[in-house]
Amino acid sequence: MSTIALIAHDGKKDDIIRFVREHQEMLARFRLIATGTTGERVQQATGLPVERMLSGPYGGDAQIAAQVAQGQIAGVFFLVDPLYAHPHEPDIGSLLRICNVYDIPLATNEASARYVLAGLVAQLSYGEKGQ
Ligand code: PGA
Repeated sequence: MSTIALIAHDGKKDDIIRFVREHQEMLARFRLIATGTTGERVQQATGLPVERMLSGPYGGDAQIAAQVAQGQIAGVFFLVDPLYAHPHEPDIGSLLRICNVYDIPLATNEASARYVLAGLVAQLSYGEKGQ
């Protein structure tokens, strides 16, 4: 099962919950992992199973970056809040960098998240047809 990672800064948590609700059927076809608080909120709001890492400022982004580097993640949906500085900025930069190193689809806003999800679902369906 392909894995999608979900992360949202505090100012974007309501947005990621709305995004997950709107795309719940599609997201249910993936294994979901998330940073601590994002995962908790998504799970509570949607009932989807989410494997939770540590909270972002405590190393959750770094844990997700490690999984990207190990080839375990099909796509990263990271709704960043561009209006606030975060204490774990180095970890955020590192996650974005690792996605670029390994050419892993990375959406940092909702508009791109819609396209990345559509692409990942299309790829799943392609695989299911045995092509
Ligand atoms: P959180 O972490 O989901 O635990 O809030 C997100 C982040 O700020 O990286």
